[in-house]
Amino acid sequence: MSEKKVKVGNLVIGGKDIIVQSMTNTKTTDIDGTVKQILELEKAGCELVRCSIPDKESGLALKHIVEQVNIPVVADIHFSSSLAILAADNGAAKIRINPGNIGSLDKVRYLADYLKERNIPIRIGVNGGSLDKKYKDLNQVDGMVQSALEHVHLLEDCNFNDIVISCKSSNVFNMINAYRKLHDLVPYPLHIGVTEAGTYTQGLIKNSIGIGGLLVDGIGDTIRVSLTDEPVKEIYAAQNILKACNLYNKPYCEIVSCPTCARTEINVQGYADQIAEYCKDVKKNIKIAVMGCIVNGIGESEGSDFGVAGGQDKSIIFKDGKQIALVPNDQILDKLKELVDNFNG
Ligand code: SF4
Repeated sequence: MSEKKVKVGNLVIGGKDIIVQSMTNTKTTDIDGTVKQILELEKAGCELVRCSIPDKESGLALKHIVEQVNIPVVADIHFSSSLAILAADNGAAKIRINPGNIGSLDKVRYLADYLKERNIPIRIGVNGGSLDKKYKDLNQVDGMVQSALEHVHLLEDCNFNDIVISCKSSNVFNMINAYRKLHDLVPYPLHIGVTEAGTYTQGLIKNSIGIGGLLVDGIGDTIRVSLTDEPVKEIYAAQNILKACNLYNKPYCEIVSCPTCARTEINVQGYADQIAEYCKDVKKNIKIAVMGCIVNGIGESEGSDFGVAGGQDKSIIFKDGKQIALVPNDQILDKLKELVDNFNG
């Protein structure tokens, strides 16, 4: 939790909940396509969404997009204060722009005043891959931190304090260290993420280490998992990172399953997948274990609410570490589903 809280539409960044966000990859001028994608993201649990505003037409399209969606929309702007103002006039709830890159101090002051009057915050988005040449003598971590501070001071000099900061790199080690330093230096909420993390599998690993590593240290207020894949997968990944860090704020079912070995008697992967599918919309805090054998199964699944330990023809169903039934293997799934349905915490 940061010292300062920043309101973005109906959300608070810097409060006790970590805000999950993503970004559209449609053309923003494709209003229908962008609205459709945002509605899918919302359904998956996205709370804040960013759209690129590369030109005037995109800025004007924003109005029609915002009218048709239910979550705040952030306008991603590069270098142009006039596009930032256009986006503010067309419903942007937050502007991502680096104020040091938009020209004279007068321009920065004008933009800061304009956004302040409308309660629209700014996200300063520093990216390790596009650092200003003036930081070329510094290592990437210090360069990113100095760049972020320069933009922060510029806004503070304009009496603008509704600031969120990101300091992303595709190098996980560098982004973690940059955020750690910034966390100690500024009171503002941090938007954390690994940038250009790559396609699904590599991206998941880099994001999990980078974002998760910071979250477990209490650093970070909003997260964007960056994947070269469908944006909705970023939301599922973000939620799983929050769950793994004990920061997910809604009830959910967790499936634990053993890795299987020579003792395995049942199709652990099949049962784990099927019970996970059955539970995906169940709003109860339940931990269910699917274990391959009775030798180690119950003991190794300590901490689960209930589960199965596989046997050759019949398997043990256990609850709170004790056997409650012995069922033929073709009834395992039905028994687990029944326990899910009747679970009251
Ligand atoms: S629970 Fe049993 S089957 Fe699964 S990994 Fe452990 S020993 Fe092997």
